[in-house]
Amino acid sequence: MKKVIATPSVTKEILERHSLFAKKSYGQNFLVESGVVDKIARHAVISDHCVVFEIGPGIGALTQFLCAYAKEVVSFEIDERLPAVLADTLAEETNFTLVMEDFLQVDLETWVQRYREKGYDVVIAANLPYYITTPILFKIFESDAKIDAITVMMQKEVADRFYAKPGSKDYNALSVITQFRCSVHPVMKVPRNVFMPKPNVDSAVLQFRFIEHLPVDEDRFFAMVKACFAMRRKTILNNFSACCKNKEMAERILEQAGIAPNIRSEQLDLPAFLHLYEVYEHESGSKCEN
Ligand code: SAM
Repeated sequence: MKKVIATPSVTKEILERHSLFAKKSYGQNFLVESGVVDKIARHAVISDHCVVFEIGPGIGALTQFLCAYAKEVVSFEIDERLPAVLADTLAEETNFTLVMEDFLQVDLETWVQRYREKGYDVVIAANLPYYITTPILFKIFESDAKIDAITVMMQKEVADRFYAKPGSKDYNALSVITQFRCSVHPVMKVPRNVFMPKPNVDSAVLQFRFIEHLPVDEDRFFAMVKACFAMRRKTILNNFSACCKNKEMAERILEQAGIAPNIRSEQLDLPAFLHLYEVYEHESGSKCEN
């Protein structure tokens, strides 16, 4: 590594040298604290035969640490001003490939397959552009690509929802659906003052790892979970009734599932939702109106 990019003075110098300014519309907040960058990279690279797919390299602050720890780094970037900058800042890195493409349009399965065939573990790492955190993560969660770990920084409030436990104020349908697909591990909290420019919010890094899918019809299970959280202040009976043919049926299913009708959905953990779904599928004969 020639020179660490993630410091305030080096970042400022690179921005000035390339007459570059951070574009708000691309969610650009560059990391300027090398300790944070190093920790993200160390968590992201889970083995010594890893390829990292990075979303949004920016001027290369995280990328250069990923290059130090991984066999290969493939970074997807949308900002057409950045190839020239990265050619300069990452000139020394021999295991770096830049792909100029909107990550939301990338054919992830094909990219992953290409590296799997070479025997690599495949991981994703990013300091995410905050304006598209959820679409990016859901693109990854919903793809059929075999990805070993996803280590990403996001706005702290959003991370709280992904990681939320039953009974907490942040627990909602997004938490249940995410935790159905993945185990979620908090890596660290990151204060707003380690970015340039400084955002208005703090951040957090989470790591997601896929867990074996249970044999359920995901669309129907997710529709049921969303219906249960549709009106947060209402009881589960009220919300669940909208999902069933009628209130009597909802009462019967809840009773059979051992769930009190007057509780709120945020009190149910994932196994309880899966059990409710099982009874619901059996009882309703697949007649959900969602
Ligand atoms: N990784 C750098 C760092 O940590 O300093 C920059 C992170 S910055 C928060 C987000 C990066 O994502 C920017 O480089 C931005 O141009 C890029 N980006 C924004 N939207 C994107 C998209 N749809 N696809 C790929 N990259 C995108």
